[in-house]
Amino acid sequence: MVISGVQQFTMLDYPNKHACIVFTAGCNFRCGYCHNPEFVLPEELVKIKDTFIPEAAIFSFLERRKGLLDGVVISGGEPTMMPDLIAFAKKVKDMGFLVKLDTNGNKPEVIKSMHEQGLLDYIAMDVKMSLATYCDVVGNRAKPNAIQESMDFIKASGVEYEFRTTLVPNIHTQEVLDDMKQLLAGSKRLYLQTFRPDHTLDPGFGRYQPFSTSQMEQIRLLFNEVIDHVEIRS
Ligand code: SF4
Repeated sequence: MVISGVQQFTMLDYPNKHACIVFTAGCNFRCGYCHNPEFVLPEELVKIKDTFIPEAAIFSFLERRKGLLDGVVISGGEPTMMPDLIAFAKKVKDMGFLVKLDTNGNKPEVIKSMHEQGLLDYIAMDVKMSLATYCDVVGNRAKPNAIQESMDFIKASGVEYEFRTTLVPNIHTQEVLDDMKQLLAGSKRLYLQTFRPDHTLDPGFGRYQPFSTSQMEQIRLLFNEVIDHVEIRS
């Protein structure tokens, strides 16, 4: 895998587990509000390619963390773009760690294959928009049918999961939120966060103000009508 970074310890990113995070480089989406453009855009990645971390260094680190960490979060960018993601996850599992996958859900076939091979212990999938407006915000490489397929599969898989949405005023209008409420109805868990206007992939997003605390709470209550657990993450 092309690994752009590692966070050696987190108690926040894998619920109730001690974990590290492995970040893969590159993404098939172009969310204007993305706050990690240097790990997404090829022209930026080329500038930091000398800092990429060899897999051998990751496995050596994990060897030393046996018994200290419960799991490994594979995040991005977008990990499902990596042709050797499955081989990587297998090695991590063979070392005795749990695997959490963070994904944008655009490649349901990869999620299914990982699940079939027993490689997924937790899935966090971004649900960014209503299906009708997905491509407007993340670019035309998004496949709304694939997003729906991933959501349906994850919900039925029996694997622990969460959906996540980053909320942006001007994009997440009431109409979009109402559509998303229908899309997400019956899900187990949804985490909401407001976008950060600093350092966005599309600098134009810098002119938007994030939702206020009370606006976020109103949106949380809206989703809470159809989803049991809805939480705001800071
Ligand atoms: S926000 Fe996530 S899915 Fe969107 S461009 Fe950034 S890394 Fe990719």
